[in-house]
Amino acid sequence: MSPDAVFVDISCPSCSQKGVFLTSSLIDIPYIGTCIQTTIFCKLCGYKSAEVSPVDEREPVHIEFVVEKPEDLDARVVKSSHAKVIFKELGVEITPGPASETYISNVEGLIRRFEDVLDNLKPGLDGEELERCEELKRRIENVIEGREKLTIVIDDPRGISAIIPRETRD
Ligand SMILES: [Zn+2]
Repeated sequence: MSPDAVFVDISCPSCSQKGVFLTSSLIDIPYIGTCIQTTIFCKLCGYKSAEVSPVDEREPVHIEFVVEKPEDLDARVVKSSHAKVIFKELGVEITPGPASETYISNVEGLIRRFEDVLDNLKPGLDGEELERCEELKRRIENVIEGREKLTIVIDDPRGISAIIPRETRD
């Protein structure tokens, strides 16, 4: 933990004990720019959560990106902790929760993250829910293999998120 961490009198979101440590620092993130990163850390249970917000106020963004060829999977994705992600053709909407983080990945990484969520859910499912889960996993593979097109929508009220196609990158 960095030496400038300050003790704050709020309850830990994970173990509910009073007192977490907070640090904030200015960082320069590729594709996002200068941001303030605030990290809270609980010494008792090890809970850690980082929040990144750009220094400049930004307009909300609505992004639609169609995945239909292998290069599309390689497009850079910046997803902020406040962004909602929709996989249109799959009828899937992922709303940001308290554990949601800002991350930089690529389109395949974004899709695989959702696949991980399905894998975690699967043991608790049966009947129709299990079938739906299996079906989604099959269709995700189809998208990754280029057999099915997928429209990815990102709605970000903070305006941080972006999908940057490979062609326009250096
Ligand atoms: Zn805790």
